Amino acid sequence: MRPRTPPVDCELCHGAGGRLLWQNDLCRVVAVDEPGIPGFLRVIVKRHVREMTDLAETDRNRLMAVVFAVEAHVRQSLEPDKMNLASLGNLTPHLHWHVIPRWGDDRHFPGPVWAPARHDAPVPATRAAAAARMAAGLPAALAALGA
Ligand SMILES: [Zn+2]
Repeated sequence: MRPRTPPVDCELCHGAGGRLLWQNDLCRVVAVDEPGIPGFLRVIVKRHVREMTDLAETDRNRLMAVVFAVEAHVRQSLEPDKMNLASLGNLTPHLHWHVIPRWGDDRHFPGPVWAPARHDAPVPATRAAAAARMAAGLPAALAALGA
């Protein structure tokens, strides 16, 4: 794999992509802080790679270990109706995973969060507060993965 110069217009090379919660040498976990979707996190590879298969197998496995640990922490903390894991990158082709807790009463359910809202549902205050606690507790939950 040849080293690549980060594209000048890649927002994930030149910005955090959200509020930084945790990072190691390979990737970072950020809170998206999207109104209406409490607990929406992203796991973003630090260097500019486009696809999972651009990573060496060891890094693929390390990345997915982080994604699964984040998913487990979000599930345990928020008890959503469903978890959505997605790696799209069509608009921002810099490898990242979305980790999204979903509730039957969220604005986009049962569509993906990127689909137009189907109804106007306020986020319960208890859910927003739990999402803030979940984000605060993420570093401890990921400590076993190593910094
Ligand atoms: Zn990039």
